[in-house]
Amino acid sequence: MTATNGDGDAILSVRDLQVQFPTTLGVVNALNGVSFDVPRGKVIGIVGESGSGKSVTARAIMQILEPPGRITEGSIHFRSSAGGESVSQLLIGEEVDLGDAETSSGGVEITKLKPRSPAMRALRGAEIAMIFQEPMTSLNPVYTIGSQIEEAILLHQTPDKKVAKEQAIDMLRQVGMPNPERIATSYPHELSGGMRQRAMIAMALSCHPSLLIADEPTTALDVTTEAQILQLMRKLKSEIGMSIMFITHSMGVVAQLCDEVMVMYLGRVVERASVDEIFYNPKHPYTKALLRSIPRIGSAEHTPLEVIKGSIPDPYSTVSGCPFHPRCPSFIGKVCEDVIPAESLLAGPTQHGVRCHLYSDEVASTAEPASTGGAR
Ligand code: SF4
Repeated sequence: MTATNGDGDAILSVRDLQVQFPTTLGVVNALNGVSFDVPRGKVIGIVGESGSGKSVTARAIMQILEPPGRITEGSIHFRSSAGGESVSQLLIGEEVDLGDAETSSGGVEITKLKPRSPAMRALRGAEIAMIFQEPMTSLNPVYTIGSQIEEAILLHQTPDKKVAKEQAIDMLRQVGMPNPERIATSYPHELSGGMRQRAMIAMALSCHPSLLIADEPTTALDVTTEAQILQLMRKLKSEIGMSIMFITHSMGVVAQLCDEVMVMYLGRVVERASVDEIFYNPKHPYTKALLRSIPRIGSAEHTPLEVIKGSIPDPYSTVSGCPFHPRCPSFIGKVCEDVIPAESLLAGPTQHGVRCHLYSDEVASTAEPASTGGAR
């Protein structure tokens, strides 16, 4: 298992992404120079507490930031799918003009597209799809499940209503819905939470996107349904061959599904590595603290779970130096308070990047954020 290995086989490359929310109380810097790659055909997990910037990263990629959020710097480069077609070739029939957002490599620079432009609307759904924690935010309560899936297919795949209907039912079958013909005529409120989540996944996958962004899709589900949904996503990933960005606060979910992991804290990537490296050789004190907070089978009865002391700072405040220093159990003094750690690539068989002064002396190389991931 290898960690992200640069631009070559990445379907999405995010570089130095900065997002701000200017409000009457001040400017919230939600992302502070986030850089990472999503490798083709792999699942990358994004973990961190609420407020670490996971969902803002996803929404920035989809250009669906809640106002007044805006991308102030950075780039989001989406590349062509497997098969070598350029993004504009993939969007043939969508009647879109990528203009100067089309790159020389056949990809598209998403930050150059307007959020409501035809090109961005075509990319959403056809090439990049997103599923949310709460299915009712995506499903319209006054339309049947089938008609909502058909609408996406009619928009991006075929003008033939009969074909769209058949594809919608087939998609419901693929996501494991019992009696998909009947489900297609049901309204969202007639389904259980787990079935609504499956319906949303069916809608997201109906146009066979190259990249699926899943924003905590199993958080609101019971453990049995969560296990079923994770199994379903693993199966569909290998069948469709898509890449997945899976946002979660659960390290348990990461262990089950992901190939690579990036850990975010306060709008920055603080550690990134293969899933094995993160679980067996974590480096950053924040990652270690997240791992210690997972319940373990076999631990002595009544052993209290460890918690990370303190909480994510107020969004309007600015933390100098290392963003984790007010809560860090490994704090090593003034350097932590004053200097933002650069990303260090650790020596080893896989790429393992960490932003912590503890490791500045044992690096294989010091990586630039713009080339290897991590945050400023
Ligand atoms: Fe802790 Fe310092 Fe490392 Fe930040 S840089 S995680 S404060 S040891």
